[in-house]
Amino acid sequence: MARYTGASCRLCRREGTKLFLKGARCSSDKCAVSKRTSAPGQHGQGKKKQSGYGLQLREKQKAKRYYGVLEKQFRNYFELASKKQGITGENLLILLERRLDNVVYRMGLGTSRAEARQLVRHGHFTVNGKKVNIPSYLVSAGDVVAVCEKSASIERLKVILDDTSGRIVPAWIDFDADKLTANVNALPARADIDIDIEEHLIVELYSK
Ligand code: SF4
Repeated sequence: MARYTGASCRLCRREGTKLFLKGARCSSDKCAVSKRTSAPGQHGQGKKKQSGYGLQLREKQKAKRYYGVLEKQFRNYFELASKKQGITGENLLILLERRLDNVVYRMGLGTSRAEARQLVRHGHFTVNGKKVNIPSYLVSAGDVVAVCEKSASIERLKVILDDTSGRIVPAWIDFDADKLTANVNALPARADIDIDIEEHLIVELYSK
């Protein structure tokens, strides 16, 4: 599948916020957003007033980049969210949050979502006892996500868990660090999703 291969920090600078795309570096003083607040590129220093459309577009880009999803797939999530009962913007974020790569990241088994995605692709996880190597797999309430028996001893996972030990696992996931398993207690609510997105702007953008 196609994916963005450019500099991750550039994306954060473009959005003017930390998207946490590079693991431990994001919390260090090496973070490019902490050092420079301007957007990248020749014209990044200028302060331009954003139009309504510009604000909506930026919010959509930010959400896509947080979760590492490309345009077409993001649009599909939106279509799915708009068919569900409830508030479309919240439904959209909840769908993104239910992705298996995100759940692995939330468990603390990826320093970034990109790393979690790679671990899923490499077949290190099971859902309800069956190996799943599809990062976009949507978990449901009651699912059990676990590290495969064969993968439990790999050194990389131990290093990642050390690196992410300070990260708070959200309440909708019950993670057992000794068994390397997580029970999905419930689907996340908007209040459980700690990302700085004004999702109603995305809905306005796609509703034009
Ligand atoms: Fe973004 Fe992390 Fe780079 Fe900071 S270090 S700019 S949060 S990817």
